[in-house]
Amino acid sequence: MPISTTRRAFLRHGTAIAALALDSPAQQSGQTVPWYRRAYRWGQTNITEKDPVRYDVGWWRGFWKRTEVQAVIINAGGIVAYYPSKYPLHHRAEFLNGRDLFGELTKAAHEDGIFVMARMDSNRTAEDFFRAHPDWFTRDRKGEPYRAADRYITCINSPYYDEYLPDVLREIAGWSKPDGFTDNSWAGLGRDSICYCENCVRKFRKKTGSDLPREANWDDPAYRKWILWNYERRTEVWELNNRTTRAAGGPDCIWSGMMSGSVTGLARSFRDLREVSRRPTSSCSTISAATTIRGSSKTATQGSASTVCSAGTSWRRRAWRCTSRVPDTIGWRASQRPKRACGCSRGSPAAYNRGGTTSARTTKIGACTTLPGQ
Ligand SMILES: [Zn+2]
Repeated sequence: MPISTTRRAFLRHGTAIAALALDSPAQQSGQTVPWYRRAYRWGQTNITEKDPVRYDVGWWRGFWKRTEVQAVIINAGGIVAYYPSKYPLHHRAEFLNGRDLFGELTKAAHEDGIFVMARMDSNRTAEDFFRAHPDWFTRDRKGEPYRAADRYITCINSPYYDEYLPDVLREIAGWSKPDGFTDNSWAGLGRDSICYCENCVRKFRKKTGSDLPREANWDDPAYRKWILWNYERRTEVWELNNRTTRAAGGPDCIWSGMMSGSVTGLARSFRDLREVSRRPTSSCSTISAATTIRGSSKTATQGSASTVCSAGTSWRRRAWRCTSRVPDTIGWRASQRPKRACGCSRGSPAAYNRGGTTSARTTKIGACTTLPGQ
């Protein structure tokens, strides 16, 4: 399809495009194409703690059908659990009241032939968790915990990532059997803050022989080591989570951390897109194959990419606009700033009244709107 194709023509030929997309080399050779390479039109719903008492699953189910999404990203756990987790410190949504909202939505999606990625948000907790495991949390040079509003930020070098989160991933994989996992805040504390917790002090010294840098200073060799060490740790976590979900949910049950479309944004949180995308096609093939970009997902292999859309309340509008196959999307995305030409920032009252997200959330995910030719 030429990039000058109009939106109307794009919609008209959507079915043909989908058919072409499925005619991949893997399919031609008789291999089974995993689900994440067959899902090109995505949706994401952002659930809040207040939603369980009013979430209209039937309405959303109809919405998915009307927008013809092939896969959805649904809040499962992390900061807030939308299912009755057995882990007492896994904070259930304030108004969950025992409801298994994530499980209901996953069941509904599967009944309609829609794939599900369980969304996690895994970098901070409420105070009770901090009190129970104070050594799992980030610390500044004075030893005070880093916080984000009333939440405490977990340290990526702590057992929170090595033990607790894998347990939660296994619980969700066994509970509702989603097709995969994703996480928006998986990379932990960003580059602007150095963590001086006991785990970081010990692990950094063991790895580099140095003490942690005292400040951000590119002339300090310890700071440069600290930067590289942090990138490596995020990639370790990426691999650990994939091993966990694939062992618990099957070989196609991938874990794919969300990645900002901004190169500087990736750098600020040590997210090494190049490294996770260049994994060999053996055991790690599925890791790089479905890198989830904030608000979109793409296949990052074989020279082409499929941008897909998540839009919360603006889903209907964007689900159409953002589904397209764009060669070299990584380079394209990195070179353009998100725009909101199609009005993605505007929320839909109809969706909001049925337990959708707020329009404020959708303003953060507008990268798809600059697809050429639309
Ligand atoms: Zn730390």
